[in-house]
Amino acid sequence: MFINIHTHAQIYDAKLELVNANLQASDQTNYYSYGLHPWHLKEETADSLLANLQLRATEKRCLAIGECGLDKICETDLRLQERVFMEQIRIANTIKKPLIIHCVKAFNEVLNCLNFSDNAMPVIFHGFNNNANIARLLTEQGYYFSFGKALMGFESNAARAIVSVGRKQFFLETDTADVSIKYVYKKASELLRIEEEILKQQIVSNFETVFNLKL
Ligand SMILES: [Zn+2]
Repeated sequence: MFINIHTHAQIYDAKLELVNANLQASDQTNYYSYGLHPWHLKEETADSLLANLQLRATEKRCLAIGECGLDKICETDLRLQERVFMEQIRIANTIKKPLIIHCVKAFNEVLNCLNFSDNAMPVIFHGFNNNANIARLLTEQGYYFSFGKALMGFESNAARAIVSVGRKQFFLETDTADVSIKYVYKKASELLRIEEEILKQQIVSNFETVFNLKL
């Protein structure tokens, strides 16, 4: 079976699609995650959104908190981002659900937040396309990766990282890209030089470990 670990809409292209759902909308997909994205944070609404998140995240089909994290390129004040991220780490640990992380040029800060919070939940860095040093650092700390369209890039960081991080530590995604998850699997199996069937089984096994769910 195909698993798409992070998409912004259910497109029925994979058997299991973890949709980044809108907290304020009522339309629900099969499986989803809820999170406050650093791009959209406002000081005035952050606390009420966090309260709403804490409530909604307990829904059974909400499998993870995210995407959430830190982004040093966006306009949002970094202190506000850190405060809201820390709070989301706390919620994830309280309700015992994994975190899906958006991280742009802020790996040190994200790791500090996770360590400072004594995070004990699995963490997936989504859309990973960073250099070998960062990949190694995150691998050593037992974090997970999700790779998407960057795998298509010739000799991209993602294409290198998927080979180095180890088969037990990654997932595949489409995010907002106009690409089929099936094509992402195909590309990943080529890069890893393994049969697509083996890759599918590995990701199912990774999913069961991280989400503590039997598929
Ligand atoms: Zn996304």
